[in-house]
Amino acid sequence: MRQPLIAGNWKMNGSKSSAEALLNGVVAGAGEISKAEIAVCVPFPYLYLGEQLLAGSAVRLGAQNLCTEGGGAFTGEVSGSMLADFGCRYVICGHSERREYYGETEASIAQKLVRATESGLIPILCVGETLQQREAGEMESVIAAQIDGIVERIGIDAFSGIEIAYEPVWAIGTGKTATPEQAQAVHAYIRGRIAASNGSIAATLRILYGGSMKPGNAVELLAQPDIDGGLIGGASLSADDFLAICLAG
Ligand code: PGA
Repeated sequence: MRQPLIAGNWKMNGSKSSAEALLNGVVAGAGEISKAEIAVCVPFPYLYLGEQLLAGSAVRLGAQNLCTEGGGAFTGEVSGSMLADFGCRYVICGHSERREYYGETEASIAQKLVRATESGLIPILCVGETLQQREAGEMESVIAAQIDGIVERIGIDAFSGIEIAYEPVWAIGTGKTATPEQAQAVHAYIRGRIAASNGSIAATLRILYGGSMKPGNAVELLAQPDIDGGLIGGASLSADDFLAICLAG
């Protein structure tokens, strides 16, 4: 009942010409993907290109961040309504790179989630533990704090319009993927945490896995009952690899 979502996270990669080629490549292969919903979260400067090249295709456009504020004197920031204006459907919120390098906290991430939904966007909320936290046996408490910190601020009902991505920090860009069993266990834990507040929202909530997902491991990961798609970094920079993962969905 939960349609898989495979979302590419291009991060800060590409050029105008490589973005054009990648968007065209994904669109060219998207017709063969019947089951999964497909999205690409591109850098801000390529949104216009994305809007133009994805028009009329089934591939959805997304962004990787938005401002905590709705508009005004916030030099260098981009609002949710601007993203919606360029045809975005999704926006990644609280990615571990933003938590680590740009000081994002549950408080600012919660504000971004509210701004996103106000603008008609669907946020993809990222959660995940570091290797140190996993080895210290703190994985569940870290994930619980990340989820509860948002639920306390924006309420559980908001989760009917949110996707979650579980991205173990130690698996991002490292080539070390969580095993399907490890990932499934955390996904089930997250769903259970949401179910404790609202069972029906938990049942429909899509929880994506992210962290070195590639064509070679996607089938097994996506076969897990609580894994409803993927947030794909490195492998989304190749149309062939990204489409192969989409087919596995
Ligand atoms: P990766 O990145 O697939 O390159 O590990 C995933 C992500 O950070 O979203």
